[in-house]
Amino acid sequence: MLKVENLRKYFGGIKAVDNVSFEVRENSITALIGPNGSGKTTLFNLISGVIEKDSGKIILDKKNITNCSVNKISNIGVSRIFQKSRLFSNLSVRENLLIAIDNEDLKFWKNFLNKNKITREKESKVKKMLKLVEMSEFENKKASELSYGQKRLIELGRAILNPHKILLLDEPVAGVTPRLRNEISKLLTKMREEGETILLIEHDMNFALNLADNVIVMDEGKIIASGKPEKIKNNKKVLNAYLGE
Ligand code: ADP
Ligand code: MG
Repeated sequence: MLKVENLRKYFGGIKAVDNVSFEVRENSITALIGPNGSGKTTLFNLISGVIEKDSGKIILDKKNITNCSVNKISNIGVSRIFQKSRLFSNLSVRENLLIAIDNEDLKFWKNFLNKNKITREKESKVKKMLKLVEMSEFENKKASELSYGQKRLIELGRAILNPHKILLLDEPVAGVTPRLRNEISKLLTKMREEGETILLIEHDMNFALNLADNVIVMDEGKIIASGKPEKIKNNKKVLNAYLGE
């Protein structure tokens, strides 16, 4: 589904992503873990076209997306949530979710004025999503009024509603209560059962290892281990990388 080949991005002397290659299988959850500053978010930024690579290749669904723009990549099928909030703060929770269904955010402003675009089907998708992330009562609140954890949930909802082939989730449960973490873990598992392909960055190693089919571990811009969670759990290099943090 997603194939990354020899991807490299340096920021001056910092080797943020250093010759990284991996593959994400269709209909699987792959967890990308590693200590702070190991290059995980940079890797997501490269895949979604937010920043330019130094070298390397990115293939999505057999299409070479290496030099495509953010919008093109999003239209081809990469949906992501960012580590920092990207909600429209002056719009309501409901409106933020409605936008996501229409995919192209900028075009949406035109669409939004055209009320015909807000179909009952879309409204019902939004309601269902709000229920899934347990945010129904916040439907008409402005995004700016939400707490950090609540924003994360709405961002997760947006990424899922956004038409896509692969979901890139950058720390989706950071700042979320343990109970809701559990619910989200179940939700992601259910989505995988329904055919979703998910690449997930998670700082909480236990959350990642319990959820993922495959794990990729980064440290200092490089992949230091990859494989099944059971194998990663006892990997010395991985434990050392986390201990050294
Ligand atoms: P992670 O998400 O694993 O915590 P990042 O990808 O955010 O790591 O960062 C990897 C390294 O690249 C860090 O040393 C970080 O300081 C550096 N870095 C990330 N983005 C930039 C940038 N835009 N300019 C300079 N350095 C950056
Ligand atoms: Mg990060």
